[in-house]
Amino acid sequence: MIIERIDIFHVCNPCRISYKTSFGVNNAFDSLLVKFISGEYTGWGEAAAGGFPGFSPEYAEVSFITGRKFLVPLILGKDIGSGDELQNIFSIYRGNQFAKAAFDMAWWNLYSQMKGKPLYKVIGGIRDEVSAGTAIGVLDSLDKLMEQIDKLVKSGFPRIKLKYSPGWELEMIAAVRSCFPNLIMHIDCNAAYTLADMDMFKKLDKYNLAMIEQPLSHDDLIDHAELQSKISTPICLDESITSPEKARKAVGIGACKFVNIKHGRIGGITNALKINKICADGGVSCWIGGMGESSLGVNTGISLATLPNIIYPSDITPSEKFYEKDLCAPITDNPHPGIFRPRQIPGIGSVPDPEQLAKVSLNKFSTSADKRNI
Ligand SMILES: [Mg+2]
Repeated sequence: MIIERIDIFHVCNPCRISYKTSFGVNNAFDSLLVKFISGEYTGWGEAAAGGFPGFSPEYAEVSFITGRKFLVPLILGKDIGSGDELQNIFSIYRGNQFAKAAFDMAWWNLYSQMKGKPLYKVIGGIRDEVSAGTAIGVLDSLDKLMEQIDKLVKSGFPRIKLKYSPGWELEMIAAVRSCFPNLIMHIDCNAAYTLADMDMFKKLDKYNLAMIEQPLSHDDLIDHAELQSKISTPICLDESITSPEKARKAVGIGACKFVNIKHGRIGGITNALKINKICADGGVSCWIGGMGESSLGVNTGISLATLPNIIYPSDITPSEKFYEKDLCAPITDNPHPGIFRPRQIPGIGSVPDPEQLAKVSLNKFSTSADKRNI
């Protein structure tokens, strides 16, 4: 398909409530949005890198500049036949996976519309209903935490993820486990620890956690392999897996037993499919994570969660949990808080509302193949 026009937006959508993790507090979520036009079709993509270099060295303002200066000129007016072709063209530039992801997702969105099929069918999804858990950030008190967990368990979520960081550790997990002995739960450390914390990780083994997500450095594989060899709780890698190549190495050295696939962190849908395959072949299971995306990104996550080898409930959070007003229409096809269904229309099925997009855009760039800088 020929990419005739590209619009990109840096958006910053304020949160309804702030969300605290080991690397900071989010009061708004920053994303790069990309719109491709080809013939009668329009495909949107989104990658939520955030507003500061916390989760990743790349953040949304950088994604926007990378997109405008480097990625747009590579593909404008070109005929791009596959996600692999797009990734090969982009590979002359290193890293910048969030920027590449938003473009890659826009390509898949266009492609599945041209095929007349929903995205999940085009990428090889095998189910039309997916299971989703939920996450709780670091709170002020254990009482508030128990109250929240109780509410979420009663509303039917199949598993809960707890953010875990210095000052909110073993005592918190011991309290949760004693109140909820059978709860399926895991912790997410967001890379807050080192191998010097080995004893603490060994103590966690007795709490029957489903996994420990990203315990060590954001770009490490080797220390994770050592930690995994010394604890029985499975390790799940998130920040460390930034590409199919990193996934291949992690699986090869036994650095993890799960991978949390976030399409933004790894460069898009094309790489999500490759990573899931590498993991499946190596006996590592996957699930889908989220970065506070609008319904556009969340619907992409739902589509990815239909793939084979996604065996743990994914992080799929309806946008109303985060935003006063989402960029797109809210997701309504979740008959139960822990169940979501992919859209049954061609493409991803979410389109930003022009008014809300204009309201939360910090920067915008548009260009077309026949009339540049429109
Ligand atoms: Mg994580």
